[in-house]
Amino acid sequence: MNHLPTLEDLGDLKGKNVLVRADFNVPLSGGEIRDDLRIKEALPTLKYLVKHGANVTVCSHLGRPKGTVDSNFSIEPVRKRLWELLPEVGLLENLRFDAGEEANDPDFVKNLISGQDLFVNDAFGASHRSHASIVGPPQFLPSAAGRLLAKEVDVLLGIREKPRRPFVALLGGSKVSDKLGVIDALLEVVDKLVIGGGMCFTFLKAQGNQIGSSLLEESQLQFCENLLASGAPILLPHDFTTMDSDGRIGDLSAGGVVRQMGKNIPDGWMGLDIGPGSAAAFGEIISNAKTVLWNGPMGVFEDERFSAGTRHIAQTMAENKSCFTVVGGGDSAAAAKEFGFAERMDHVSTGGGASLELIEKGDLPGIAALTESRRLI
Ligand code: AMP
Repeated sequence: MNHLPTLEDLGDLKGKNVLVRADFNVPLSGGEIRDDLRIKEALPTLKYLVKHGANVTVCSHLGRPKGTVDSNFSIEPVRKRLWELLPEVGLLENLRFDAGEEANDPDFVKNLISGQDLFVNDAFGASHRSHASIVGPPQFLPSAAGRLLAKEVDVLLGIREKPRRPFVALLGGSKVSDKLGVIDALLEVVDKLVIGGGMCFTFLKAQGNQIGSSLLEESQLQFCENLLASGAPILLPHDFTTMDSDGRIGDLSAGGVVRQMGKNIPDGWMGLDIGPGSAAAFGEIISNAKTVLWNGPMGVFEDERFSAGTRHIAQTMAENKSCFTVVGGGDSAAAAKEFGFAERMDHVSTGGGASLELIEKGDLPGIAALTESRRLI
């Protein structure tokens, strides 16, 4: 990838109109913001621009309003919070109120950049999408990456291109099919790939183990079998926390027996977390690593009965001070925060899908658009 233009590359900002694409897709309930982290994380970029004399207009999507005005997704609560933190900037209404945003409509782009001199993309979490506000403005305006985007690229491409070794990646979450590309890409660079979460059962089944009623993706059995046969350095769990068919996830009152088991899970039982032996083994690997990338929970961490594996991974990462620790966004970032370890990681990505795609491909549509826009500076 060519050099990514940063804020300094934009030159003199005094009196310039600058459009900033931020990711203010904050969690809302009943019109209230439950977590304003995404707003706070954009502040270094916004403050830099304001301090250097720019007139700043910010834009963002919020939720999935499907291309029409929907008051449930009004940007108003975000505007209120943003103005408490930084009253000097303007904020446009939810970009996704117009179908042109997701369709990357040229007329929508034209309206968006009307009156603007410069563009800054700081929305890492949306930069894997070829939406109008991500890939459109850099075609017409001198453009740069904001602080947040630049840091994500620096960290994620850094570990992809020159990690300190041993480099261990841990993948979890529910689906193998979501992670095919990233598994291949990681196997090119890691010393060990640890696989837990719901996705490990398709691998275990491919090895000939019984998995009971645990998650299975039949269509990926061959992929898993080929990968295991290739001698790739993949490590799978060898014990599990399981529940019988009377239980329901997240509902203690439903009954259901929770039991630790080894590799062969009988019919009627579902593997919902890695067991204590596997957690200890994975923890040992993390403790001896110099770079760890973690994406996807080891179990159904939202239910306390199945959170121990995920918690142990987050804790061992946080405790390994001589290791560069990176948490991919999405559920693993949520788990690291919930268990109180996020602050002790070197980097917690703000984009789940975007971080996986950047590691897989080494580039994203939003980043490529900025790199190409260099010619306009
Ligand atoms: P993903 O959306 O693919 O990143 O997966 C995240 C979800 O996977 C979380 O909500 C977890 O509850 C779920 N998950 C993790 N381990 C398991 C498992 N063993 N069985 C079912 N779901 C799981």
